[in-house]
Amino acid sequence: MKHRLAILPGDGIGTEVTAEALKVVGAAGVDYEAVPFDLGGERYLRTGEVLPDSVLEEIRATDAILMGAMGHPDVAPGVLERGIILRLRFALDLYVNVRPFRAGPSAFNNGVDMTVIRENTEGTYAGEGGFLRKDTPHEVATQGSLNTRMGVERCIRFAFDLARSRERHHLTLVHKTNVLTFAGDLWQRAFDAVAAEYPDVATGYHHVDAACIYFVAEPGRYDVIVTDNLFGDILTDLGGAVSGGIGRAASANLNPARTGPSLFEPVHGSAPDIAGTGQADPRAAIVSAAMLLDFVGESEAAARVFKAVSGSDDVTGTTSDIGSKIAERV
Ligand code: ATP
Repeated sequence: MKHRLAILPGDGIGTEVTAEALKVVGAAGVDYEAVPFDLGGERYLRTGEVLPDSVLEEIRATDAILMGAMGHPDVAPGVLERGIILRLRFALDLYVNVRPFRAGPSAFNNGVDMTVIRENTEGTYAGEGGFLRKDTPHEVATQGSLNTRMGVERCIRFAFDLARSRERHHLTLVHKTNVLTFAGDLWQRAFDAVAAEYPDVATGYHHVDAACIYFVAEPGRYDVIVTDNLFGDILTDLGGAVSGGIGRAASANLNPARTGPSLFEPVHGSAPDIAGTGQADPRAAIVSAAMLLDFVGESEAAARVFKAVSGSDDVTGTTSDIGSKIAERV
């Protein structure tokens, strides 16, 4: 089956790592049509456009999206994040963000094999808030956290399903229920209610600050973790740091109901400091592409790509060298 893939390379190293990911997808023998979209900081600076409605509709008509990175030093913070990344998450209802981490033993710990499920459309990222008396000494800024029972529950249910499919059958809720007593209470009640439907999955709870310690010192405690949007954003950068670095951290933004395409992207950004130098590690983008293949039903090809990347510790060189060598091994 031929898959129509929306390709959003974006900016900086995003374009470089996306090219390598596609090289590997091709080598895996998957039949696809690449539909390229010129979006990101470069386009915004050139045309003033962020994500035109007509482009969003073209993206919506594809089977899946592979994204590089959106970001530019000359674009104000928030323009691309709100205008492209968050807009795609909301418009395509990409309510689950999946971030897997795997690594062997290190100086810090005995190895990592965990997946974080981050709620991807609510919490503090929903955009609730505003200014009052802006730019005066009496300025007020509020930033609310929006949590719906439906939104929280569907994310938690996805996490239980994933935990059930893995060997250890364990799910940890991470929040800050002792301080965020409204949102945390809703999360805990939704978690307990869904847990009753999954008696075969063992459960636990950690405050997010304690989870930060365990992520570094004892990540072996974790199998699957479910958490809110902001905690998940921060924790998964830490997860990347303790499992091979940011150049290996991949992610999937899923619409599990499949009412539209899902989006796959490396966790890292455009890294303007190393763009054009050939130093970017393409593994995070390649693993993101493998997650895409898995989600669109190419699980055999996906498994070969995952295996080639996990056995690639000996592979060094430029971005393109690493992509080519991994492509040879799929
Ligand atoms: P953006 O504004 O797009 O988020 P950024 O530079 O602020 O970009 P990241 O791209 O996440 O944020 O990069 C943080 C640092 O990590 C960069 O300075 C870069 O040196 C390093 N880095 C990021 N991605 C990679 C990669 N794939 N390979 C090697 N180093 C990377």
